[in-house]
Amino acid sequence: MIIQLSKNITTQEQGILINKLSDLKIKSNIISTQFKNYIVGIPKTDFDMRSLGNLNGIEDIHRVSDAYKLVSKKWKVNNTVINLGDNVTIGGNDLAIMAGPCSIEGEEQIETTVAHLVKNNIKIMRGGVYKPRSSPYAFRGMGMDGLKMFYKHCSENGIKVITEVMQVSQVEEMADYVDIFQVGARNSQNFNLLDVLGQVDKPVMIKRGMSGTIEELLASAEYVFSNGNEKILLCERGIRTYENAYRNTLDLNAIPILKEKSHLPVVVDPSHGIGLRQHVGTMALAGVMCGADAVIIETHENPEIAFSDGQQTLYHEQAEKLYQQLNQTRQLYKSF
Ligand code: PEP
Ligand code: MN
Repeated sequence: MIIQLSKNITTQEQGILINKLSDLKIKSNIISTQFKNYIVGIPKTDFDMRSLGNLNGIEDIHRVSDAYKLVSKKWKVNNTVINLGDNVTIGGNDLAIMAGPCSIEGEEQIETTVAHLVKNNIKIMRGGVYKPRSSPYAFRGMGMDGLKMFYKHCSENGIKVITEVMQVSQVEEMADYVDIFQVGARNSQNFNLLDVLGQVDKPVMIKRGMSGTIEELLASAEYVFSNGNEKILLCERGIRTYENAYRNTLDLNAIPILKEKSHLPVVVDPSHGIGLRQHVGTMALAGVMCGADAVIIETHENPEIAFSDGQQTLYHEQAEKLYQQLNQTRQLYKSF
């Protein structure tokens, strides 16, 4: 059960409500986000909601039977729109496109990417400065120096930054240089990290774990929301299956299901989803037709020399053509 508290609820009214819930053997979790105050009640047995309805200070009450509550569509019918400022939004009518390299490699690379994005009116640049790599000997990212450079060039050109945060200790120092925090597939259930990201006022994109279920992804999002941050994006990036003809199995089914179950915007990542450059475009377009609100794609001036994930990275010329097709496909989806 979710109780939306009214803005001007008094401490006394809140006390009466919590006592009433306790009488009904309902465990109350008080949640304060950047937008609202809620009580998530976990009843042990069935109860009559009418017994709460006449108390003061309540704006609305909803029964939510899902394991996840605040991220469920059962209580919030309108889709969440994430506003990044400067008229950049995710989850609205238009498709949001995020593009850029797998890893930030240096100033020149940032400049060529920014120029490519500006030319194509793409408002969000991706790029990792802390890279989760299977081998400890692989390139692991430029860290804070790279992030500061990345943010400087982007902010000067009206572009928003999405980058991966790998551990709790990085959150604070990164926050001033990030517009969206990315939680990678390997950290999808790092609950300590999710707790901390719930306490910052920056959007968080959570990628689905390699073997994560849809319910687990939603439960991860619930961690962020219940810690106070409503600005969450869910990302389908492929799961590990028995199939090894491609890097991962992009689970397109997850997109309409996530849209049905949650009010949060859904992002599709076809680059990691299939892992093969020649098929990234097809899967991106398919993702849009499945209802994704945003696409995140790896692009590079010269993928052949990219420090990571070159095999799944689009050339800028390829990406340029794809952006147009993606926007057209969004129109088609909307008229569907
Ligand atoms: C990435 O976005 O480059 C990345 C490492 O993604 P994932 O966590 O989905 O593997
Ligand atoms: Mn990558």
